[in-house]
Amino acid sequence: MSILIYAENQNGKIAKSAKELASYAKAYADKTGQEVIAVGVEINQPEELYQYGVSKVLNVKNETLKTFNAFAHADLVTQAALQTGADLVLISDSNDAVYMGPILAAQLEAGYVSHVISLPEDTEQFTVKRKVFSNKGIAYTEILTDNKLLRIAKNSFGLYESPVNGSTENFVPEVDLSVYETYKVVNVEKATGKISLTDADIIVSGGRGLKGPENWGMVEELAEVLGAATACSKPVADLGWRPHTEHVGQTGKQIAPNLYIAIGISGAIQHLAGVNGSKNIVVINNDPEAPFFKAADYGVVGDAFEVVPQLIEKLKTFKNN
Ligand SMILES: Cc1cc2nc3c(=O)[nH]c(=O)nc-3n(C[C@H](O)[C@H](O)[C@H](O)COP(=O)(O)OP(=O)(O)OC[C@H]3O[C@@H](n4cnc5c(N)ncnc54)[C@H](O)[C@@H]3O)c2cc1C
Repeated sequence: MSILIYAENQNGKIAKSAKELASYAKAYADKTGQEVIAVGVEINQPEELYQYGVSKVLNVKNETLKTFNAFAHADLVTQAALQTGADLVLISDSNDAVYMGPILAAQLEAGYVSHVISLPEDTEQFTVKRKVFSNKGIAYTEILTDNKLLRIAKNSFGLYESPVNGSTENFVPEVDLSVYETYKVVNVEKATGKISLTDADIIVSGGRGLKGPENWGMVEELAEVLGAATACSKPVADLGWRPHTEHVGQTGKQIAPNLYIAIGISGAIQHLAGVNGSKNIVVINNDPEAPFFKAADYGVVGDAFEVVPQLIEKLKTFKNN
């Protein structure tokens, strides 16, 4: 038996989430003695996955399959699982994988658990922790079927290098390409050339406390110094101060970076629902009673217009030294 991961890529470059799936799979494989195998389409540098414990990469070379289609990709993952004898399949929390998950679960006749944030507690009883209620609770869920499918929450496990000697094979699945006749992607326009919010390790976010779009320079500068992505609260996007692609929260993007810096954001429950998966939360707010401080790991009570420029200067000095 082996563990199979579905390794997504962007224009051939392996996604960070694929390396996280590999890290998770390898950590579990170290307990069970299983082999970790990856399947993906047109991966440019499959050897990058060997660094994270993948000993075999099944690389599909097919122009049509380069474009994601949930039915076609579910087919190819199912065939890879059957060929490799995988009883545990891992997918990420990407939009594509979320769409494909239920189809794959039906094909594999697998128990399917999403939003997973931990390894199974032991190898006898397959129980994993998953986020529920917009990250406000944790459910312990046991899978009872022989085949298991897990959707791992982004940034919940982390990246752990564990190099192995790997190999890559061309994999030629028998996929019914007529599913591509139902719809096709005509054009892809990237929302921004900057770091994507869902992949970012660090996010600097601004709220209505920043008063207006003209004050976003310091948010962007702080983000640049930290190599971070920028985000905002819902009203900020509604007011047109920032694009809606940056809006995080219950009705916006759900994020889980290692560090989330919230500037001039009150910490309403709808905002927290999208950000409380962050590993460390820093809140800068001039109101000591702001609800966000209750969810913060570190808090600065102060005027953002004084605190943020000083923080930028300190970070620049730190980096120069
Ligand atoms: C159905 C529904 C869904 C929603 N979904 C979302 C969502 O997905 N995401 C989201 O963000 N919101 C969402 N909201 C809105 C949410 O309830 C809050 O209204 C919103 O998050 C508040 O945004 P804010 O914190 O930027 O603004 P405010 O509530 O106006 O807070 C501004 C904060 O800035 C502080 N401040 C002011 N001046 C300064 C200064 N000079 N320096 C430092 N701090 C300062 C203030 O003390 C205050 O805490 C939703 C609401 C509903 C009803």
